Amino acid sequence: MSGIDLLVVGAGPAGLLAAIKAADEGLRVCIVESMAKPARKLGIAGKGRGNLTNTAPLPEFLKHFNRQGRFLKAAFAAFFSQDLVDFFEREGLKTVEERGGRVFVASGRATDAVRCLHHAVERRGIRLLTSSPVRDLLVIDKSCQGVTLIDGRKLTAARTLLATGGMSYPLTGSTGDGIRMAKNCGHTIVTPLPSLVALKPEKPLPDSLQGAVIKNLSAELRINGKKEAAEFGEMAFLDGYLAGPIMISLSRAAVQALHAEQQVEIILDLKPALDHAKLDRRLLREIESNRGIDIAGLVAKLLPAELRRYCLDQTGLNGSRRADQMSAEQRKALRLWFKQQQYTIVGHAAWEQAIVTAGGIATNEVNPNTLASKIVANLHFAGEIIDIDADTGGYNLQAAFSTGWLAGQAIATAIKAGNKNRSEDRIQP
Ligand SMILES: Cc1cc2nc3c(=O)[nH]c(=O)nc-3n(C[C@H](O)[C@H](O)[C@H](O)COP(=O)(O)OP(=O)(O)OC[C@H]3O[C@@H](n4cnc5c(N)ncnc54)[C@H](O)[C@@H]3O)c2cc1C
Repeated sequence: MSGIDLLVVGAGPAGLLAAIKAADEGLRVCIVESMAKPARKLGIAGKGRGNLTNTAPLPEFLKHFNRQGRFLKAAFAAFFSQDLVDFFEREGLKTVEERGGRVFVASGRATDAVRCLHHAVERRGIRLLTSSPVRDLLVIDKSCQGVTLIDGRKLTAARTLLATGGMSYPLTGSTGDGIRMAKNCGHTIVTPLPSLVALKPEKPLPDSLQGAVIKNLSAELRINGKKEAAEFGEMAFLDGYLAGPIMISLSRAAVQALHAEQQVEIILDLKPALDHAKLDRRLLREIESNRGIDIAGLVAKLLPAELRRYCLDQTGLNGSRRADQMSAEQRKALRLWFKQQQYTIVGHAAWEQAIVTAGGIATNEVNPNTLASKIVANLHFAGEIIDIDADTGGYNLQAAFSTGWLAGQAIATAIKAGNKNRSEDRIQP
């Protein structure tokens, strides 16, 4: 294949947007994708509803990224959340804003966003080669000439964009291939670690807890005994892990600490609205106003059914004893269970269950204004392959779309400038 201006490796959100933007700028674009269909991960995003972006203003938006978030300023300046919503609107996909500024596909089906992008690619005559895994980049004298496919075929192009994503949910096609290719051609890789994952406590959780959800609690993450972060919201006990939104939010720092062999603890406060004294008064009030109530009955007044047995087992309290016969010491044990439930964390869920990858191509080796490699000429990167990751809420997809869009634009500008220079070269005497 010849005469290609831009070869995009990976038909995820980043690669597709880059291809679409570059084609709109007049480039001849080809996308190579290892899977049989494009954007498998986007198709399951947001529990299948596709949380495409977030309407938070830029300064707040950036706070949801790791320390490399500032790398994204140029990409967000070029193409931000409203631009994405407008883009999808023009391409025929409606979106809807929900709680917390989260923007979803209005139909409630993330696969509609995939279909929309696929049509946008087809309408522009962009060549999409599916079931075509790329084996490696074709780099000669520190300049990328294209790629070699797994079957040995070589595809050449003026510029190549690597948008193969991170390493999470490898069944969607994101296996970390691109990270390896970037490393092979000299890029520094910040060790990829799973992020936005459930956390494994040291002591096995009882089966009775499976699936239990707790709302309106707060959780504190302690690293080496020091408070690192805290979150308020909802959590769940799933398959022996501490899971759910607030655990996912705390997981990035927790996973990094575990891999640095630091001590990681999670402290739950099931009654964050009551301090210790108020909780004690509440217990006494319940005992007084429910004459003759037993301890199991008292616990039932304060906890959802799935947690009651666990509470009694952990505090060692006898549920059939009368609550008004509890000693101050026993009341204290109950109070501490509510306010300071402690878990030593010893692991995390695997890549198969991680929502994003923390780590990837070091940002200081990528030009933030063009997404061009600073190591290899004619090579660009976009999306999760770069060392950028964020909280849940639509931030990760926006980063993929924005970096893709900016890369497509920058590549078009560079190629047009190159063509102009060449034609000027020709007409010069
Ligand atoms: C379950 C789940 C839910 C999520 N929900 C949300 C959400 O609601 N909102 C949000 O903002 N983020 C969400 N994310 C994160 C978000 O989906 C990713 O950050 C985003 O998809 C990254 O886009 P990307 O284009 O960089 O990479 P990817 O989407 O990973 O796409 C990379 C593409 O490259 C292809 N590829 C890989 N290797 C090769 C190769 N060697 N040759 C050719 N092609 C290759 C892959 O098959 C894939 O199609 C979710 C992630 C998961 C796992």
